[in-house]
Amino acid sequence: PETKLPRVGTTIFTQMSALAQAHQAINLSQGFPDFDGPQVLLERVGHYIRQGDNQYAPMSGVPSLCEAIAAKVERCYGRRVDAGTEVTVTSGATEALFAAIAAVVRPGDEVILFDPAYDSYDPAITLNGGKAVHIQLMPPVFAIDWEAVARAITPRTRMIILNTPHNPTGQTLGPDDLQALSELVADTDILLLADEVYEHIVFDGAAHQSINRYPDLAQRSFIVSSFGKTYHTTGWKIGYCVAPAPLTAELRKVHQYLTFSTSTPMQLALADFMRTDTEHDQRLPAFYQARRDRFNAQMASSRFRFTPAAGTYFQVMDYSGISNLPDTEFVLWLIEQAGVAAIPLSVFCQQPPEMKLIRFCFAKSETTLDQAAEQLCKI
Ligand code: PMP
Ligand code: GLN
Repeated sequence: PETKLPRVGTTIFTQMSALAQAHQAINLSQGFPDFDGPQVLLERVGHYIRQGDNQYAPMSGVPSLCEAIAAKVERCYGRRVDAGTEVTVTSGATEALFAAIAAVVRPGDEVILFDPAYDSYDPAITLNGGKAVHIQLMPPVFAIDWEAVARAITPRTRMIILNTPHNPTGQTLGPDDLQALSELVADTDILLLADEVYEHIVFDGAAHQSINRYPDLAQRSFIVSSFGKTYHTTGWKIGYCVAPAPLTAELRKVHQYLTFSTSTPMQLALADFMRTDTEHDQRLPAFYQARRDRFNAQMASSRFRFTPAAGTYFQVMDYSGISNLPDTEFVLWLIEQAGVAAIPLSVFCQQPPEMKLIRFCFAKSETTLDQAAEQLCKI
């Protein structure tokens, strides 16, 4: 049968997590914490379920949560957004990304994205009749060459998708990148989709360069985040999109028919938690940096080579000192030889360059990280 997504199979995350389980390997592949979010947050969900808050939430999100999101955006980035018309709560960042693309990408429109690219972007563009224009970022730094972006822009360019901090590389955009982007789009109608799900996981004292900080860019942007990453609750699948009212109106036309709304008790619980603990996100960098440093300190005596991640809860490592296998084969070998599952980087590229890189997730307990590092140091 004719398929709308001929190049798409089962995602690498599903594949590697299944393999990890089948081999009883330590799973540092799919990105999710092996610990729970704050107890008070979990208890609030139970509270609201028992209290009978079990019916549809408002389409655009529970008002108290939209207000808490607006307050957070102002506290963190100094940008005022209207909770009623500029914030939409979605079923994970995944839904927000899809809804934003579906809302504005017309048949034949071009959307620029950077490889390695998170796996949901290209299929969302393709399903909506758009053309994904991939720009390869080159290892080991994976910096954006803004001149290459300028060359890729055509009259059909509708959108540019950014992701900072970046999954899978762990790199972040700096003020110079945002400046270059501002100049590039200044006299165009190009829209931006900023995937900032790791906004609170930035290391070594750096400040996250949210699009929210740049008014010229924010007025043309869908900015997406996820509570899964910030509150260790990836299984709740709650995210949100901040965008100017006209863009939000278009996004909601899609959202209301894609899912309509998302889990009521969890939204209420998140709203309470965000109101009472405004410091959780400020503690997150140190929390994850300690895990990055613990893992990396042990991995320093392995045969892997790496530069510490600047953000996210992923560490990329170069295995060229161990093997010549392509990365998709090396991860299979690694599960068998070291009992540790990782993610190959080439699967996020349309035309992968020469690289021997895999991604480890360090959102894990100290014992898990220690055990994984010990096993990885033996190969
Ligand atoms: N974007 C990126 C870069 C991600 O890493 C993820 C999650 N793994 C998502 C989007 C999706 O987030 P959610 O689980 O909230 O749908
Ligand atoms: N974003 C997660 C990761 O990068 C996985 C999400 C998923 O399994 N779809 O590992």
